[in-house]
Order: sequence, then C-alpha cells, then structure tokens
Amino acid sequence: MSEDLSGTARRVAAARAETEARGETFYPGASRIHLAAFPPKERWDHWVELDSRAWPERVERHTMLVPTTCFNCESACGLLAYVDRDTLEVRRFEGNPEHPGSRGRNCAKGPATLNQVTDPDRILHPLKRVGARGEGRWVEVDWDEALDDIAARIRRALLEGRHNEIMYHVGRPGEDGFTERVMASWGVDGHNSHTNVCSSGARVGYELWTGIDRPSPDHARAEVIYLISAHLETGHYFNPHAQRITEAKARGAKLIVLDTRLSNTATHADHWLSPYPGSEAAINLAIANHIIQTRRYDREFVRRWWNWDRYLADRDPDGPGTFERFEELLAELYSEFTFEYAAAESGIDAAVIAEVAEVVAGAGTRLSTHNWRSAAAGNLGGWQVSRTLFLLNALLGAVATPGGTYPNAWTKFVPKPIHSPGHPRTWNELTWPLEYPLAMHEMSILLPHFLKEGRGKIDVYFTRVYNPVWTNPDGFSWIEVLTDPDKIGLHVALTPTWNESAYFADYILPMGLASERHDIHSYEQYAGRWIGFRQPVLRAARQRLGEEITDTRQVNPGTVWEENEFWIELSWRIDPDGELGIRRYYESKQRPGEKLGVDEYYGWMFEHSVPGLPEKAAEEGLEPLEYMRRYGAFEVEHEVGPVYEEPVPAEELEDIGEDPFGRVYTRAPKPPDPNVVPVSGPDPDDEGRRPVGVRVDGEILRGFPTPSGKLEFYSRTLVDWGWPEYALPGYIHSHIHPSKLEGDQMPLISTFRLPVQIHTRSANAKWLDEIAHTNPLWIHPDDARRLGVETGDLVRVETEIGYYVVKAWVTEGIRPGVVACSHHMGRWKVHDRGQRQLMATVALDHEGSRWSLRRKHGAVPYESTDPDTARIWWTDVGVHQNLTFPVQPDPISGQHCWHQAVRVRKAEPGDSYGDIAVDTAKATEVYRRWLEMTRRADRVSPDGTRRPYWFLRPLKPAREAFALPSESR
Ligand code: SF4
Repeated sequence: MSEDLSGTARRVAAARAETEARGETFYPGASRIHLAAFPPKERWDHWVELDSRAWPERVERHTMLVPTTCFNCESACGLLAYVDRDTLEVRRFEGNPEHPGSRGRNCAKGPATLNQVTDPDRILHPLKRVGARGEGRWVEVDWDEALDDIAARIRRALLEGRHNEIMYHVGRPGEDGFTERVMASWGVDGHNSHTNVCSSGARVGYELWTGIDRPSPDHARAEVIYLISAHLETGHYFNPHAQRITEAKARGAKLIVLDTRLSNTATHADHWLSPYPGSEAAINLAIANHIIQTRRYDREFVRRWWNWDRYLADRDPDGPGTFERFEELLAELYSEFTFEYAAAESGIDAAVIAEVAEVVAGAGTRLSTHNWRSAAAGNLGGWQVSRTLFLLNALLGAVATPGGTYPNAWTKFVPKPIHSPGHPRTWNELTWPLEYPLAMHEMSILLPHFLKEGRGKIDVYFTRVYNPVWTNPDGFSWIEVLTDPDKIGLHVALTPTWNESAYFADYILPMGLASERHDIHSYEQYAGRWIGFRQPVLRAARQRLGEEITDTRQVNPGTVWEENEFWIELSWRIDPDGELGIRRYYESKQRPGEKLGVDEYYGWMFEHSVPGLPEKAAEEGLEPLEYMRRYGAFEVEHEVGPVYEEPVPAEELEDIGEDPFGRVYTRAPKPPDPNVVPVSGPDPDDEGRRPVGVRVDGEILRGFPTPSGKLEFYSRTLVDWGWPEYALPGYIHSHIHPSKLEGDQMPLISTFRLPVQIHTRSANAKWLDEIAHTNPLWIHPDDARRLGVETGDLVRVETEIGYYVVKAWVTEGIRPGVVACSHHMGRWKVHDRGQRQLMATVALDHEGSRWSLRRKHGAVPYESTDPDTARIWWTDVGVHQNLTFPVQPDPISGQHCWHQAVRVRKAEPGDSYGDIAVDTAKATEVYRRWLEMTRRADRVSPDGTRRPYWFLRPLKPAREAFALPSESR
C-alpha cells in the first residue's frame, strides 16, 4: 500500500539536500511520492508521472487512475487503468492495491489487457453472416437490426411454447448471476456452461462432503499446503492464491505438489510427487489410512461433524451404533490403502509417500488443500480425487479453520439484485439429460450428439466467452451441428474477438473487454469475503470529469457494447409492452415504466445488498456506487470463522421438527421472498420442510447444507441414486489405468495450461503471444529413445478417433510412459479475417464423417495500426489437439475425462506440423460407449425426480420441473 506521506516528505527533503549539496538540480519526481509505492488513492484523480519514452526529457504525464477487474482468467484480480487526462486513452493497466483478493498484484495477463484493447484485429461492430455458415463472408450491421431480429425470434419461440429452444452457452462467466437471471426472466431453462470440460469432477467430490461444490483453502495461514494442480503458475484463483502460498512458504509452511509434470509449481514444492495419472486418489487414501491407523485424526471433530451415525445405521445395523464402533470400522475401511499399494498404483516410492503422509498428519487444523481441474478433470472417477483430498481435511478437522479449507460459499459474497425473477418452470433435457442425474453441471459436450439424435433442436443459441469448436473435445462434431440450420436456427456469438466457433455464427456481436463492461464478482481467495466491480473505465473517467454517460457504447471503441445493457435492451424488445411478464425485470424503480440503467442497477445493489458498503462510502462522502467506481472492490468480511459451529438463532427455531439423525427442519416452508433467488444453501425437502440446522451434542448448530447437516463421509445420495459402491471416499480406476491400456498405448495429459495464456481469450495479446506460442509434446528420454525421436522431431499422436502431428520435446520433466501436451495452443482460422497474432491459417476439409485440418501458414508479420505486428518473429502457434479427442463423460459427475489413451509414433512421410485428421463417426461410437456406463434417472431415481433436489444447479428450475417426465415414470 501507499506509504505514509509525511515519511515520504522527509525522504524527499533529505534527497533534495543531498542532491543540492552536490551542486545538482533536484527533481523530486512527478508525483512527489516514493515510486516503489502504489499511487496513494487520494491522488487517483490526478496522478503525475514522467513519460518513460521521452527520456532523457522530463515530460510529465497526467493521468486518472480508474479501477476495473481483469477478465483474463477467473481470478478476477483488480486492475487500475491509467487513463490519460488529456487524450482519455488508457495508457496501461497495473494492479489495484485496494483489491482485497489480488492486493495490487497481477500476473502477466493482467497488464496485457492493454494489448487486447488496442488489438488491430478486434471486432468493433456487429457482424451479420452472408452466404453459408462458415463461408467467412460478413457485413457490418447496426445494433438495432441485430437486436430486432434476435428478439423477434426469441419472442416467437416463447409464444409458441418452445422455451427449450433458447440456449445461452457460457464459458468463463466473469460475473455472478446476471445472465442466469436473464434466462430466468424469460422463463427458459436455457443456461449452458463449460463446466463439464472444467470442474464438474472436482465439484462432485466437494458437494458430496459439504453441500457446497468448491473448496476455499486458507493457504496464507496453513502449515502444510497440499495441491493437486499446477497452482502456483495457473489454476483456479491463480494469482490471489499463489501470492498467499508464497507468503506461507516464506514463513516455513511446507508445500506438497502432486503433478505428473515438472510444472513451475512442482519446482517450488518441498515434496513433489509425480504420480502415474489417475492414481492420485490412491495416494490420498494411503495418507488417510496413515492418519487413521496412527490415530492422528481429530477424534472430537469426526465425532461431532461426520455423518457416521447414518453410515452405521445403513451399513452396520446390528452393531451398537456408537462412535467407537465407527472408529473400529473406519480402521478397517482403508486398511488396504497401504503405502505399498499406493506406490504400486502411482509409481512413487512407498517411503516418499510415507514421508508426505507424516507431513500431512502433522499439519493438524492448518492443512490447506486444493484440487480443481487437473486429476479431477482428467480421469474416469476423477471426482474421487477431490473427495479423497477433502477426506484429509475432514480427518484433521482442518475445515473452516485458520489455515484449513473452507467450503467456498462461506468466503464468497453474492449480493441481491434489484429484481429477481422466479425459477423457470421447464427442464431442458439437452443440457440435463436423464442419463446423468448426478452431473454437477450441464452436459454441454454432448450437445452435438443429442442434436444429431433428434433429442431436440435449438432456435436461438448464444455463445459467450465460449468457443466450443476449439475448447471442447470432438470439435468437428460441433462444426457439423453449427453448420446445420435445422439443428441450430440462429447462432449469436457474443465475443470481443474472433474465435473458431464465431466463424460458424450468424451474428457476431462485439462485447467489451475487461475495461469496457460492468460485472460484479466475488471469489473465495482467502478466509474473508469481498466483492469486486468491473467497469468501463472510460465511462467512469468521463463521469468523474462531469460528463453524463447513459450507454457504454458512448465510451467504448467502435460500437463495442457490454452485456448488461445488451440483455436489458434485448429483453425489452422481446417483451416491448410487458405482456410476457419479462419487461418488469428490466424496469427502473426510480422511474417506473422506464428502462433500467446500469447506474441504477448497481447503485441499488451496492446500497441495499452489500453490508457495510454504504457506511464505508459515507465515511468518504461518497454514494456506494461512487465508492465502487472509485476503488473497484470492497471487503465485506475480513475473516469468516467456522460457520457450521454457529448456533441457530432462536427466531429460526419456531415450529421445528427433527429427524432421527438430528437434522432440524422448520415444519412449514417459509413463504418465498420475491426478492430473493437462493444462490445456494438448503432448499425445502419433499415435504416442504426447510433445514435450519443440526443437533450436535444437544445444541442446534448451523451445520452444513447437506441432507444430514453434517459432513457426509457416507453419501446416502449416491446410495439412493444407484451408486452404492461409491458411497464412501474411494478409488476408481481411471480409463487410462495401466490395466485398461492396450499394446503400446500411453496416457496423454492434456489438461494443463500455459502460465501466460488463457484458453481462447488471450490470443489477442501480443506480449503474451511473444512469450508463449507453442505446445510441444512432453516426452521422457526413455520413451523418445524407444520411438527414435529427438526434440523438434514431428510425431503423430493417435487417439481413438484420429490423430494430430506435433513436435516432440524430450524432457525428464515428465514420467516415463506418459506424454503431455498443453491445450492452450493451436488456434486457427479458415479465412484471412481473424486474429492474426496467434492463429494459423488452415485448410478445413471433410468427406462424409472424415475431417482434416491442414496448416497453410502460421503467424506472419503484417502491417496494421500497431507497428509491432510488423515485427512478429514467430510462426509457430501450436497444434489444436482437442479436435482429436472423443467425448468421455464420467457417468456420475458428467465431467469430460480429458486424459487420452494414445499411441505416439514418428510422423509419416507427408505429415506436416499441425495436421489433424478425425472421423466423427468414430466419435459417435465412443460417445455411445460412454453413455452405456450411465445409470438413468428414470431407472434409479428414488423419488420420481430427475436429480437430487438438494444438489446445487445453476439456474435451478421450479420444483415441479424436477419430476420425471410422465412417460418414464
Ligand atoms: S491471475 Fe492474471 S489473468 Fe487471472 S485475473 Fe489475475 S491478473 Fe488476470
């Protein structure tokens, strides 16, 4: 933070005296402040600094510092835009010291936001397709034309009862709930996400334990940090977590990293374990067994907070039902998971696992653990990786303790909006099919197959921050449905930049980048809660200068818009006279009958729904919205404690009932608050009872939002929904377990990111592209020798449905017998138009179901408004491997299991770098094979519903929509 001004004044005076004593002229610095400090917030209106490019001249630059939020990954770090007061241009982005999560720090991708803003290839006006989809011909249209066309189509679908033909498919949302409420206001179950290529697996593990689907590790105060990821360089909440892990290490905390690759994170570990992929849960269980056998677990915590009583009732009905009996059984349950067993599965020396187990066992309540994608996203049964990882926390009592791991809902804050539409009354089986009743999120990767099977069709399909052709497995199947207007009537791509899926759109609508749009967000990054505000910085700057801005397009480049205003406008046009009941959610409260504006939307929220913010703002003589526009973030609570131990207040305990295991309910449901859509937490059960707490040692405490109110070591939900064999934390052999590989197949790890790139959102950042622009195949020297390849040689990587040709990188940073390739590269375009700094130009062909993609050329220098584009020196842009992967959805979590069983060979004569060949007929066969592993809701549902009602679900439909369709009951 900024240093004390009087201290600065003293140092400046001393420096002046010294300089003048030498007979030189003293220049105190443009802003008269120590340059190592952040600009003090008191000077953010007018900050003066020297123009580095003018050196040795001392040319002063006068800037205004305006906060916003980075959008280059999900961490939502604070940024400060340095807006030139003379030209009103953003000169650069740096960290926002007022942001409680990122605390002024960013990774390389934060400042590179500037590249994206000034990218000469960005899309500045709405485009409409002419010719066939994918032909690459576009005309600019104005927003009115696009809005009227799209709105009329949606209105017609709603009037004709075709609600399930409207779908909004989002990748990285970058906001909390706005668009889900838009879908709810239209009455459609139309939310689709990218989550089953991301975190569905890990979420199931956490949800089953705590009723909340994410972990929130308090790394900063941990004694032992246990990561199943490359978290210090990428990963979930990367920069905010990485800086806290680094602090913990600096004061002596031990870092354990499970990563098959020698990632940058692994290089910082005190204990790096490189397991055979898919064996991570076996290691976790060996550590758990050690804790149990040596009785190092927190006995009192386990007794109070695990649902062992329910376990005994079901699995030991004739026993005494005592905790001591449970302990006896617990000691037997995991006894097979010896260090030797884990060693045999993982390939790691038993002594190393034993050493790590001792470190974990000694952590007590200061064990922070994290797994998000990585192994949970790579393997069949990957959800057991997070479930067994949290078992370690649950054994040690390291749950919501300083240095432990919290459920994320307790360290995240989602404010109530000005209007809250009710739950939609429909259920969309294109996203929530009967085969996957326990899937944590939408089965988005299966959409092409469902459309081909005729399970439904889509009339209006929005993609936003989402590029399924490139990001998802089986991208050619996506192209097949995106080019078929009978399957997808109208594809609207909301994107600030070109992407592979937008080429197959009907409209491309340019939406603002991090500094050109409004959003709120709050993420679990330490043991407190904060809310951040993304804003169009030029709008805020010009408002500070006294201008009235009513539409973000007034300040954005071209006619680039923002989604908040877009959705409000679109919703008005769908329901112009309010007869559909939609318009009321987009009306002003201050000016009834008029359109809601974003100033009122956020002003209301910050004033009414963020505790402490109005008071904090008033201390500075500001309105809450002014405060957020000025500082960009607010800490709602500095430290959250163990919420589950809080006694339930007496007023919530009127007219309660209790089940035999101590779950306490209100007898009657509370009347719904029309202003509140529950974001998480317990819903009423079948009898309309609402859980309020759980009785523990005679006291009614808040507990966890699980069916039992306790940590669910034993998942009755899995038993009831047809998977009794997995009711406990356990180990499932991955689809790439050695016993399942054939001949010379090897596992391919394809889940890892590159530290300075983010999926498809950073290819328009020249600084990042210069640093990272390739994704070679990591291959161990033993394997390279066997195959006769050296670094730089071309190899063919063959999957079940095709192959890709990539360069080999021979390295000891990967286990023998395993290969790895980052998914962050291989962007492509078919036509000249598009992003040129990190996209190859390719020939895309197919004959029937056989598709091929062949590179014409990689990146080349070009003349543009940015002289740097003429200096592009790299040609390589990597290879798009995901196209060659079939869908492999886990039958429980729905997570796409990314790891592939591949054969690696030397490239054949005629093969070229970047060649890709795939047969989508084979992709369909693989889809059907994985589908057979599922247990359908209409066969296993215990209560005639499609899905456990207590499970979290984005855009949860009304209760009646959960009923199985009548024909399947
Ligand atoms: S970690 Fe980097 S990319 Fe992610 S939000 Fe922070 S600065 Fe942006």
